[in-house]
Amino acid sequence: MIEDKNQPRTSISELGEFGLIDHLTQNFEITQKSTVKGIGDDAAVLDFKSKQIVITTDLLVEHVHFDLSYMPLKHLGYKAIMVNLSDVYAMNATATQVTIAIAVSNRFPLEAIEELYVGFEAAAKFYDIDIVGGDTTSSTTGLIISVTAIGEVNKNDVVYRSGAKPNDLLVVTGDLGAAYMGFQVLQREKEVFKVNPNNQPDLDPYSYIVERQLKPEARKDIVKLLKDLKVKPTSMIDISDGLSSEIIHLCKQSAVGAELYEDKIPLDPQVISTCEEFNLDSTTIALNGGEDYELLMTISQEDFPKIKGNPNLTVIGYITDKEKGMHLVTRGETLVPLIAKGWNSFKDQ
Ligand SMILES: [Mg+2]
Repeated sequence: MIEDKNQPRTSISELGEFGLIDHLTQNFEITQKSTVKGIGDDAAVLDFKSKQIVITTDLLVEHVHFDLSYMPLKHLGYKAIMVNLSDVYAMNATATQVTIAIAVSNRFPLEAIEELYVGFEAAAKFYDIDIVGGDTTSSTTGLIISVTAIGEVNKNDVVYRSGAKPNDLLVVTGDLGAAYMGFQVLQREKEVFKVNPNNQPDLDPYSYIVERQLKPEARKDIVKLLKDLKVKPTSMIDISDGLSSEIIHLCKQSAVGAELYEDKIPLDPQVISTCEEFNLDSTTIALNGGEDYELLMTISQEDFPKIKGNPNLTVIGYITDKEKGMHLVTRGETLVPLIAKGWNSFKDQ
């Protein structure tokens, strides 16, 4: 964390735990009809009437999931919410509330925690969700953030990982690999900064991929788009660990196989040029990079006319019988088995 000596540094111990919670949450607004009681009692009270409820939790740990030397706290707060909302949208549900728990060491002044909460609040506002509770405690070392997201969905609209059928189309939103290449650029600049702290990095040529790493957006718009197009995917998952491992999850849960076409994988031009610069293969990055928070789904062939030509949705392959296995069909038309290389194991190489 780059610290500005001129910034005020208020120790969080001055406020005490309850004072801190009051201070941080005083501006939070309640907008969801399903929120009966938000922050301020022993527990939140929610009323979803006849809807089904989805609940998901993610834990973000400093030095494991984020590095504050280049991740601004405001963006980290925003990203912590996005990671969770992405899982809600992957169920074809609408996100409605979150709870946020943080453990923080005394190396963070109040002003730093406020920055984190600016990010939480921005995410809640843009994605129309209520922050209805949480906890704040001290940590002996780094920063830990745990977010739980809650969403609602009509019983008939829920989409699981397990519904894919042979001949369904494999469809992905947006483009892939950008968050990982943004991470590569930020890591390189961090090393340069260590050697020469006066060196000002020029991140302009990498603006898109750096933003995808630091400030990802969950695909709330896709849930609405699918509804508008009257398309219910047969299965869906969000892409947090890389396309390859998410395809494997879908196929295993659905007991099917898949063929993925290398030349159909959507890549942003900045991913392609940065991969060339780093001497990395862009297909490998799209398959294994992770943190894209796009949605991967399968769609019945009958629904193809409804999605055809939509710039948000790219058909990248199709579902086969389980016996055929899971393969990448390369540009040279060679079949390569898909293997799961998650984000973490990939990073450790
Ligand atoms: Mg997920």
